[in-house]
Amino acid sequence: MPTETSRTTVSMEEIVALCKRRGFIFPASELYGGINGFWDYGPLGTELKNNLRDAWWNDMVRCPPAGPDGNALSIVGVDSSIVQNPRVWEASGHVGGFNDPMVDDRETKARYRADQLTVFTIERLDTGAHVGGYFAAEGADDAQLIATHKKSIASLIRKFDLETCGYRLVPVPGALDDSTIRGATLAPGAKERGTLTEPRQFNLMFKTYVGAVQDEDSVAYLRPETAQGIFLNFKNVLDTMRVRIPFGIAQIGKAFRNEVTPRNFIFRSREFEQMEMEWFCHPDEAPQWYEFWCDRRRTWWQSLGLSDENLCMRSHDDDERAHYAKTGCGTFDVEYRFPFTAPGFGELEGVAHRTDFDLKQHQQHAGVKLEYFDQERNERYMPHVIEPAAGLSRGVLALICEAYTPDPDRPSKVYMKFNPRLAPIKAAIFPLVNKDGMPEVAARLHDELRANHPVQLDVKQNIGKRYARMDEVGTPYCFTIDADTLTDQTVTVRHRDSLQQERIGLDHVAAFLDERISG
Ligand code: ATP
Repeated sequence: MPTETSRTTVSMEEIVALCKRRGFIFPASELYGGINGFWDYGPLGTELKNNLRDAWWNDMVRCPPAGPDGNALSIVGVDSSIVQNPRVWEASGHVGGFNDPMVDDRETKARYRADQLTVFTIERLDTGAHVGGYFAAEGADDAQLIATHKKSIASLIRKFDLETCGYRLVPVPGALDDSTIRGATLAPGAKERGTLTEPRQFNLMFKTYVGAVQDEDSVAYLRPETAQGIFLNFKNVLDTMRVRIPFGIAQIGKAFRNEVTPRNFIFRSREFEQMEMEWFCHPDEAPQWYEFWCDRRRTWWQSLGLSDENLCMRSHDDDERAHYAKTGCGTFDVEYRFPFTAPGFGELEGVAHRTDFDLKQHQQHAGVKLEYFDQERNERYMPHVIEPAAGLSRGVLALICEAYTPDPDRPSKVYMKFNPRLAPIKAAIFPLVNKDGMPEVAARLHDELRANHPVQLDVKQNIGKRYARMDEVGTPYCFTIDADTLTDQTVTVRHRDSLQQERIGLDHVAAFLDERISG
């Protein structure tokens, strides 16, 4: 029987290796040693990503969920330009405020996001006096601290046996802004204390130049989020489509962020794809719509196969909120338990109440009225916006992590348990042997099925090896043509998860597959 995966036993290295080995994801520019924070999708990764993209588009734009009154919501799509007038990013607050604080380690040459580096001290429980200097670690838990300071911390901990000897580890908020504390802090992997630099603000937008002359006037930016392309087209959509508030505008596309520390495979990269929807509503109704979207977005990820135990909703703390969400009712993240965050969770999607911040900013900076006249209420107002903003690339990673299922009893030792709707290959067709008329029947079936689904015909190697290959890429069904097929016109279907086999009529295969893929 397949063994249950646990987030803590599956290692990211194994997942990355499978992605490389089976053509899901490769490092970008691999021939030249790669480029940090950029990835290429191989044939199967592209199919998987397209399937997730299409599922989102279908479930948000073509067949959006029903609203609280039971009527289908109205959501339309746009596809805006990656490069926009640079004034867009001044108005949106990205030129002034889309920064991450960065610190460098002069000794190890490592670079960190200051908000992700926690400084700890060891304190006496009775007096509160601190002993032994300060220790920095990425992530705010003791385990991380000990892992990154194996020798120094371990000896301190052995020496004091911490709590039993009356000591404890305490994080020191704001420590990196204090030059005295910084001077006494031991950075991860460093031998000397005091090697961290003062935090500096670093703007995450990629700059480029438009046109032949490269000067301050020709500076432009690669968009750091798809959302602004939606706000820019709010009026165009209102003027051209028969939409009335409340309604949504959706967009899927690339976004670029010059992340200080790209890491964890495609989780944090410098070029990635987003799936964002801006839901425009009356300000008074924003809190209800916010709750509605928080709930729907979590259920949507569940419907794709992410398990309940690996998903959670987390409300942003006040100091974490993006510049636009400051005055709103907040931001909830749909979080997923990735192997590198386990037992904790990492952001998969944010649902934010952006208030009327963006529309107001563009109205002011562009000098164009963006208010909405609500005929039903006979009222003119600036709509509020609820934004579910998901990462397409992060979604792909979550699906891959969830699907990865070790099974020592299978020849492949692991199989990918993708939801059939998302599986990159829906079915494989195998002639048992490459003779006796079987390849011809297989080729005909392949032609019939490929018109509607990505399917693969595989004639080489023994059947066990062919099944193993399909298990590793998560193909839910394999159809085998054997000697009986030639006499009774039936094929064997092998189910990936249960390993059960059954025989169905050759002329039923297409319907069998349609039913399972769309259902
Ligand atoms: P984080 O806190 O992880 O940096 P964020 O809160 O800045 O993310 P948003 O601006 O809300 O992210 O973007 C919406 C979604 O886009 C995120 O939930 C995530 O799935 C995705 N995303 C953001 N930055 C990256 C990145 N560098 N690489 C891959 N996906 C990203």
